[in-house]
Amino acid sequence: MASLPDYSRAADEIIAAGIELAQRGQVPATSGNLSCRVDDRYIAVTVSGADKGNLTEDDVLLYDLEADTPAMPGTASAETPLHTNLYCINPSIGAVLHTHSRSATLVSILLGDADKLTLTDYELLKAFRGFINHTAKAEIPLFANDQDMGRLSALVEARLKKNFKGVIGYLLVGHGLYTWGENMTEARRHIEALEFILDCELELMRHRQ
Ligand SMILES: [Zn+2]
Repeated sequence: MASLPDYSRAADEIIAAGIELAQRGQVPATSGNLSCRVDDRYIAVTVSGADKGNLTEDDVLLYDLEADTPAMPGTASAETPLHTNLYCINPSIGAVLHTHSRSATLVSILLGDADKLTLTDYELLKAFRGFINHTAKAEIPLFANDQDMGRLSALVEARLKKNFKGVIGYLLVGHGLYTWGENMTEARRHIEALEFILDCELELMRHRQ
């Protein structure tokens, strides 16, 4: 069982991230999910339907990755498999953030049938781990939205297992954005940079029309 202090630390980090994302309007109407690794076996993840700008420890569930089940009473968010598969695919991931922002929603719809968005020539790409030059290419795979989380999670897992290099997040069409980091500080930096770049992409799409 994960230690209580480790769970509380992870919950505190989730609560702080939730306030920041809510203030930026990126998790409207109880949407979005946030998670943080507690140790090799457990993560902390937001429960279903909680207001991300007003989370308490009661809204954060300890989840057992090995048993694939909550390790305390409560209803895990329906999108929990989209968090757990990332921790399992890449053991260096320490936090996962998912937003339902306006820009992520619109950009993913405007991209139509594209299977990925490639980002380059943004100075802010240097906010991402491993990116030291603005000319580097960052990839954001796109997936059709699906209410069957088992099916969607399997699709995401298969694609990321095949190629994780240069992938800094992914978009669910008409739904939102997932990104991650080695810890919560890094995941928060990544989502802030990615949301900024998606805002820019949306403006550019408007001007290109
Ligand atoms: Zn969602």
